Amino acid sequence: MSDDSGAYCQTNGKRRVIRLSHGREEEKKMDQIHIYEVGPRDGWQNVSEPVSTEEKKKIIDVLADAGVSHIQICSFVSHRAIPQMRDAKEVAEYCVSRYPNMDLMALVPNLRGAKDAQESGIRHLSYVVSLSESHNKVNINRTREESLKELENIIKTYPDLDICVDIATAFGCPFEGRPKERELAKFTEHVYRMGIKEICLCDTIGVADPRQVRTEIRSVEKTCPKLELMVHIHDTRGMGLACTLAAAEEGVTKVQSTLGGLGGCPFAPGASGNTATEDLVYMFQNMGYDTGIDFGKLLKLSKYQKSVIRGNYSGHHVMIQTMQECGKKGGGQKCTVR
Ligand code: MG
Repeated sequence: MSDDSGAYCQTNGKRRVIRLSHGREEEKKMDQIHIYEVGPRDGWQNVSEPVSTEEKKKIIDVLADAGVSHIQICSFVSHRAIPQMRDAKEVAEYCVSRYPNMDLMALVPNLRGAKDAQESGIRHLSYVVSLSESHNKVNINRTREESLKELENIIKTYPDLDICVDIATAFGCPFEGRPKERELAKFTEHVYRMGIKEICLCDTIGVADPRQVRTEIRSVEKTCPKLELMVHIHDTRGMGLACTLAAAEEGVTKVQSTLGGLGGCPFAPGASGNTATEDLVYMFQNMGYDTGIDFGKLLKLSKYQKSVIRGNYSGHHVMIQTMQECGKKGGGQKCTVR
């Protein structure tokens, strides 16, 4: 990979070799980025046609084969509210027995969901609470205080489970707009003091910009330096890659995304989905980060998913046809090169 300055970098195993224009070489340890694939939950829950349990297992198997080692596989929620998650227990038990060493997460909205997750063998939970009171009421049908009380119950009942608190609308709410200065840091500190060690800052409606992401992360880290941070950015306004990169450059090593950018935003009909996993892998790997993921296998899977599950795909790579694919289609699908 080269740029105008004449410097270029290439990945060499887990080292990054940087050749400078004057011939000197520097070798650096590659920065690691942990990609959390949340498509099986956030992507599929936005698909209206039922995805069969067998198809879900098949896609998760290929994700694992491509080197994805952190997957949010389902949510334990009311089947009436989200019918796509009706087979959460079966999918969870399958993954737990097949991939005992993988980081398998499940989203739970309450103690009942935590019980179901624990009984299915899940050790890592995502628990959602919104920064904005209005969004929490619409999303979870509770006040923030009630949500935090429920979190306390889950912590007390299942002290051995790892709980990541997803702070929804961390960068903006459809009803209340941008949070006030230090509002996110103060709320994060409150959750941290409850005993939570990991927090995911979620741009639920995709309104963040990279500078805001940097500012908020610095503010949160200053308040809670020991907290493990993750980000979950929607690509609603085309800011997904830029905002995720901004977080990574602030030192956040855990980022969430969905295969193909599948997903959506219930408060913005027509909006694109999450940041696409393969787009993130492409960007980070070309920049010299280590994701541990095979980009080729991942992209092939993303295209496969798009061919079997109808949905809202906002990824870029998943839309690109290779010359080979164009040739295979023939007829009206010809590629032209100008
Ligand atoms: Mg989301």
